[in-house]
Amino acid sequence: MKRIFIYMIALICICFSIPIVFTKEFAQRTYSQGTVNENIVDNENTEKLENDIQKSTYDYKKYNKIKLLHTETNETEEIDLDTYLYGVVSAEMPASFEEEALKAQAVVARTYTIYKIVNNDGKHGDCDICDNSTCCQAWISQEERKSKWKESEREENWNKIVNAVNSTQGKIITYNGQPINAFFHSNSGGETETPVNVWGGSGYPYLQTVATSGEDAYSQYSSEASFSKEEFEEKIKELHSDFEIDFSKDDCIKIKDYTEGNRVKTIKIGNLELSGVEVRNIFGLRSANFKVTVENENIKFEVIGYGHGVGMSQTGADSLAKQGKTYEDIIHHYYTNVEIEDM
Ligand SMILES: [Zn+2]
Repeated sequence: MKRIFIYMIALICICFSIPIVFTKEFAQRTYSQGTVNENIVDNENTEKLENDIQKSTYDYKKYNKIKLLHTETNETEEIDLDTYLYGVVSAEMPASFEEEALKAQAVVARTYTIYKIVNNDGKHGDCDICDNSTCCQAWISQEERKSKWKESEREENWNKIVNAVNSTQGKIITYNGQPINAFFHSNSGGETETPVNVWGGSGYPYLQTVATSGEDAYSQYSSEASFSKEEFEEKIKELHSDFEIDFSKDDCIKIKDYTEGNRVKTIKIGNLELSGVEVRNIFGLRSANFKVTVENENIKFEVIGYGHGVGMSQTGADSLAKQGKTYEDIIHHYYTNVEIEDM
């Protein structure tokens, strides 16, 4: 009786364990099939992505085509909005930057473009925008851009740019439902600037001074410029014929005050009082954040940052992306109280 009972227990155990073994094996097989399937899905995605790379499919309605002025040839080109943006992003930001920084640049460039169209000042006749970085925003053709990259990097770089534009297609930055004037620059030197301190006017509520860490890691962060006393005098006299300076005086050049963004606001040079922005323009400095010293026969500027400092810093965007921020985080960092919306 006892023996029969033991056999029965053993039989029950075998009956239960067989399905467990099979189920385990099945589960493993399912799992590995799942992995294979995931790879298939990945391949499909890659193929889909490669198809996507050809074209952006977003319907921009009346903004589908924009009129681009080529400043060197004075020719007008009608071009799809996102195709235009491939040329802007690849001209304005190195392809080596983080994908999220490139996406932020794509959204900023799209917003800047739409703002220009909506608020067209007629500066370029019936064109919407030009390809000059100091006037509107830089643009480069696909052929020219690729020819400047190493052959081994061409496809990868271009696809990275195209994906940054296509994965954010339709997105623009708005404030109170309107596209913002999305200024951007190369390197803020640590703090961005308000537009009032650069161009005067009444400013924009969404363009405030904000700080970014990590921008000192980029080559755009610091620079120097040196001028002989004669050159220095000549350059100022071109604009101010009454300019006089006595270099033997200790206070012949003296910074008087700074902006909220830590740039030179006003500086006394000889008998003149100039703005930091004007001094930047006169001497072609990279920014208005500078120190100036008289060293024997030379006047030396030590400059921090690159560009006007308003809006998004490009190296700052890359630095934030390296810290794990998304393109939305980057945009919200540089533009205060804005929204990212579909057009
Ligand atoms: Zn322009």
